[in-house]
Amino acid sequence: MSQQPTGGPSITQERRLVTAIPGPRSQELAARKAKAVASGVAVGLPVQVVAAGGGILVDADGNQLIDLGSGIAVTTVGNSAPRVVEAVTRQVAEFTHTCFMVTPYEGYVAVAEKLNELTPGTHEKRTALFNAGAEAVENAVKIARSATGKQGVVVFDHAYHGRTNLTMAMTAKNMPYKKGFGPFASEVYRAPLSYPFRDGGRDGAEAARRAIDVIEKQVGAENLAAVVIEPIQGEGGFIVPAEGFLPAIVEWCRANGVVFVADEVQTGFARTGELFACDHEGIVPDLIVTAKGIAGGLPLAAVTGRAEIMDAAHPGGLGGTYGGNPLACAAALAVFETIEAEGLVDRARTIGKTMTERLAALQEQDPRIGDVRGRGAMIAVELVKPGTTEPDADLTKKVAAAANAQGMVVLTCGTYGNVLRFLPPLSMPDHLLDEALELLAGIFAETRQEG
Ligand SMILES: *Cc1c(COP(=O)(O)O)cnc(C)c1O
Repeated sequence: MSQQPTGGPSITQERRLVTAIPGPRSQELAARKAKAVASGVAVGLPVQVVAAGGGILVDADGNQLIDLGSGIAVTTVGNSAPRVVEAVTRQVAEFTHTCFMVTPYEGYVAVAEKLNELTPGTHEKRTALFNAGAEAVENAVKIARSATGKQGVVVFDHAYHGRTNLTMAMTAKNMPYKKGFGPFASEVYRAPLSYPFRDGGRDGAEAARRAIDVIEKQVGAENLAAVVIEPIQGEGGFIVPAEGFLPAIVEWCRANGVVFVADEVQTGFARTGELFACDHEGIVPDLIVTAKGIAGGLPLAAVTGRAEIMDAAHPGGLGGTYGGNPLACAAALAVFETIEAEGLVDRARTIGKTMTERLAALQEQDPRIGDVRGRGAMIAVELVKPGTTEPDADLTKKVAAAANAQGMVVLTCGTYGNVLRFLPPLSMPDHLLDEALELLAGIFAETRQEG
């Protein structure tokens, strides 16, 4: 059964436009989607993908687009990465499901062992596997409540933790995530973040004091089970807190019997130029939540953390039908191997350096680029009215639309909708990254001339 692979690295690594975007076949699919799929499930760029790999998405009309989104930080090792394809193909022929809670299998345990080893801290750890980021965040809260006997959960401004009922309560932004979907879970409290671009020079320690003051005055450590934070915010705008902010919050949690939970669903697995974003400041979370980049596109999520906290939940209290299904576990093991074998942590750093240098040079000529930030292959620009910090969401939409038209998949984010974010797969070759940055520079120049 030597079937020729049609996706993954076998795709020629070049941008190619043979129709307008979206082309006629993509438009046909969009028409079918409108009749078949709930309109709440919206689409950013309606191209019909038929293959993907390296830094390219191929559509049904024969266009080849540069992928600067990785399906929202998921295909970090590349789409249809060879080791993932091989591992999943082997597993799918052996068995597809037993339910780990009914009859276990090795893949689940091997993923847990690997996560216990790779995540920050050398203490004894345990892991539980789930299907999606939101489900894992919910379970981290369940575990923290069970371990502390307390109920409160503190989250931050601009936070994104998912779309289930509890995680909607934890997510900050109303549109599109929460509008009309309440009532939301109780005992969730919001604290101010460190947001250097909008913080008027407040440093990390001061921002932490401000947050801790809110937590102590409005919640109280004696009521608080967990503080949950993205070490670099994803949907909220790729906000990197000022140095010292995260360590101060960790220290306060430890001194006050509060579980510190790092939501690394978007930042995990080499994305930021370290294996985990916590590693940049050497912080050690009590629990770490991972998903997205963990399994090369197969649905998998995990909560990993201190054995005594993880083991607090009673036997049978955690689980789910599909959590840690065998295909996803095979994929995750292949992802861990790929990150190591291909030196992808370093690759993310190199990509970050290239993007940051080019975008910072662009910023020097263009006062609408208020901020260039992020780490590794997780970089964003925040767009504003020149000379102010007033968000420019219209410009952001315009640049993203122009990028799409020129054959690039780019994502936007941010509470104010004014952040362009770049999450290229780490399999992106240099020449495509350079081309994308060149095209973006051209788009910024054009929109400047239009005024
Ligand atoms: C995407 C995301 C989630 C939710 O993950 P799903 O797999 O979509 O449920 C949670 N936290 C962060 C930081 C995310 O980026």
